[in-house]
Amino acid sequence: MNIIFFGPPAAGKGTQAKILQDKYGLQQLSTGDMLREEIANATPLGAKMKALMDDGQLVPDSVVVEMIAGRIDSSDCAKGAIFDGFPRTQAQAQALDEMLAERGKKIDRVIELIVDFDALSARVEKRAAEEGRSDDNVTTFKKRLDQYKSYSKEVLPYYRDKDLTQSVDGMADIDDVTAQILAIVSPKAV
Ligand code: ADP
Repeated sequence: MNIIFFGPPAAGKGTQAKILQDKYGLQQLSTGDMLREEIANATPLGAKMKALMDDGQLVPDSVVVEMIAGRIDSSDCAKGAIFDGFPRTQAQAQALDEMLAERGKKIDRVIELIVDFDALSARVEKRAAEEGRSDDNVTTFKKRLDQYKSYSKEVLPYYRDKDLTQSVDGMADIDDVTAQILAIVSPKAV
């Protein structure tokens, strides 16, 4: 089973992806986490991407597509993956479809977390205090949200056309959001 979690920054994608990962053995693949790992490991790629990320811009498609391609055949992805923060452009979505098709796989569900944009900045402030992410500040967050508003218009229709999208209320309690997601992805539902 391959699932995409789609939603604005701080919508709870990572939190829910980790819960689903533990429950079903699906592997969370977060391009944001992978990029932050590059930065933490002080790789040349990380150094190049940091400025873009801190400015709230997207990194080039080729960078994230290669990162996903480099992970998808790992044994921990055998049962499937939860894509978190990827794809963010139609080119990424197409590359992902091709990558999966070459392996006889496909995207089974795209779960959109619907959240009130005004509530997000409070979540980001909390996360900034807890995790110290350098892009969790008011200015960058606004840019990331604007980016989301624009790229969601490009990516969601791609999956809506394939009848793959379902939405959940991301403003509910964490457990409640999980329950909504499980109702969508429980094995009998796929
Ligand atoms: P959030 O969803 O909270 O904004 P992420 O951890 O998903 O955060 O992403 C952080 C940053 O990493 C993004 O603002 C962007 O610069 C970069 N990034 C992550 N995934 C992608 C992607 N699929 N395409 C382009 N840029 C990405």
